[in-house]
Amino acid sequence: MPDLMKGITSFRGDVFPQQAALYRQLAHEGQNPQALMISCADSRVMPEAITQSGPGELFVCRNAGNIVPPFSTMNGGVSSAIEYAVLALGVRDIIVCGHSECGAMKGLCCPHLLEPMPNVAAWLRHSHAAHSVVTQAYPQGLTEPELIRAVALENVLVQLDHLRTHPSVAAKLAQGEITLHGWFFDIETGGVLVYDGEKRGFVLPRDGDDLPVAIKGRLQPQLAAQTPIAAE
Ligand SMILES: [Zn+2]
Repeated sequence: MPDLMKGITSFRGDVFPQQAALYRQLAHEGQNPQALMISCADSRVMPEAITQSGPGELFVCRNAGNIVPPFSTMNGGVSSAIEYAVLALGVRDIIVCGHSECGAMKGLCCPHLLEPMPNVAAWLRHSHAAHSVVTQAYPQGLTEPELIRAVALENVLVQLDHLRTHPSVAAKLAQGEITLHGWFFDIETGGVLVYDGEKRGFVLPRDGDDLPVAIKGRLQPQLAAQTPIAAE
């Protein structure tokens, strides 16, 4: 792995010295990232590059398909990362970021590709709802690339729904202290589509636009048990 070896020596010798004070501060004072980003493990998707974030700015959790298992189904790395980011680090924004040309979404759409990979197939069951939405609610006749792209976009929304099943996230949403974002990175163009929960669609924000959000915490807490029950 000569390239990786070259990379770590170059980082240590050329890059790190320019940011040594920042790393020293982060080492002594701890991290205070502004957001948790859950993205695909795909090597072409680089959360820090897409958001132009530096050390200490982004808490990142990556896996095949940018999946968030629903809280009750498994206790694993993603659940732990969410809980830690929300409760220990106090992040106020969580981003689920899908992307174009996603191999996981392709596997979801072409199950025969997953036959030699039973673990991947089992993991992708957390995205089956996205596949069902596209195959049953979208117009018929999509080409395979269109199908995979649509599933990848819907998968972002499915994973946002799963996020809300995590108690730490649900409680912060009820207190208006957290905001959920759904993004989609287009590898070929470098564009990031952002889900606008009010418009119910993905938009491409322009420079200077306010960042659309998928799910806002309740700004004026309205708790179910405190809402007057209307008479029939
Ligand atoms: Zn992917």
